[in-house]
Amino acid sequence: MWIDRGKVVVECKHQAKSVGRPVVQKLHSAVMTERAVGGIVIATGGFSSAAEGHTHANICSGDALTAIRRMQPNNILLVDSGGLSALARVAGVNLHQGEDPSIRDIDISGVTGMFAGLRSCPAGATSLMDAKATSQHIDTCWVAEVRVEQRFHNSAGMLVHKMKKKKTYACGPDGGILNGKLAKKVKNGGDGLPVKRGEPPPRNGIIRTAKAECVKNVKYKGGNGATYVKRCEPTEGHIHVKFHPIGVLRTTVELKFLRTIYKWDIPWDKEITCKACGKPKGVLKPLLICNECGRVVHVRTCGGECSMCKKTICDSCAVKQKRIIKTSRLCSDCLPSG
Ligand SMILES: [Zn+2]
Ligand SMILES: [Zn+2]
Ligand SMILES: [Zn+2]
Repeated sequence: MWIDRGKVVVECKHQAKSVGRPVVQKLHSAVMTERAVGGIVIATGGFSSAAEGHTHANICSGDALTAIRRMQPNNILLVDSGGLSALARVAGVNLHQGEDPSIRDIDISGVTGMFAGLRSCPAGATSLMDAKATSQHIDTCWVAEVRVEQRFHNSAGMLVHKMKKKKTYACGPDGGILNGKLAKKVKNGGDGLPVKRGEPPPRNGIIRTAKAECVKNVKYKGGNGATYVKRCEPTEGHIHVKFHPIGVLRTTVELKFLRTIYKWDIPWDKEITCKACGKPKGVLKPLLICNECGRVVHVRTCGGECSMCKKTICDSCAVKQKRIIKTSRLCSDCLPSG
């Protein structure tokens, strides 16, 4: 690499382990051999105290660009992750400094795709969006093994029905029964992550569901030869529930549209809700992204298009102007004068 004063020798170490003194020593020798101005070691894992203690070494955790410009002859600049981030910012690259490195590579296209499909004008939703995964946690979900065993008799003490059923349900952290893909995932062991056993969730929902699924109207002949029907619904004491904890990874994605931030939890959040009325998309579809503030709102009831420039705007950004019979929305750019 060349800076305005001459040649600089650079060594980059992309590793979790810190860089030791031998690397600095070797680079210093290279600087002498090459008759370079100085040297730079960039290390994502930082430096050992022995490396930092090298006579010709200077550590840089902040403004690396200024440090490079002011480098003393024959010195070695040690740029750690902080210094690298500062350099990246100057170059317009976001390295997500300070975040858990394991969440950087998460595919969040499912969520961003959902938001990108919303109506947006003149800027497309994607161009207004700044999206990234911000944190990950392990949620404890549950597989509930349910056993129902009960004998039903008529008033004369005759056995009418012998109920014996086994069922498996998948439950969320709150004990709510899961359906579809998520239920399948939990039943198959979730993300295969270790979970603390903890307190199992309330059984009410499972008891209710098991009752409803097992109830049966049984026809039988009485002692007098007449046919009767008995409703056989299991009672709580005969429904046995056993919970097994299952770890499911929850990823929080932060989507920023202009001044508005949406937090999205994968896999739990399913539906976009209107920032104005709080109702989900399904109720009063479709939705739009306000090109003034970035709020996601319903097109007809909570926002719309500017009557003049056709820009999408929410009701709180729009100015309403009453024409003889109809009300029209205007954006700040198209405010009526006077
Ligand atoms: Zn709404
Ligand atoms: Zn708005
Ligand atoms: Zn307008």
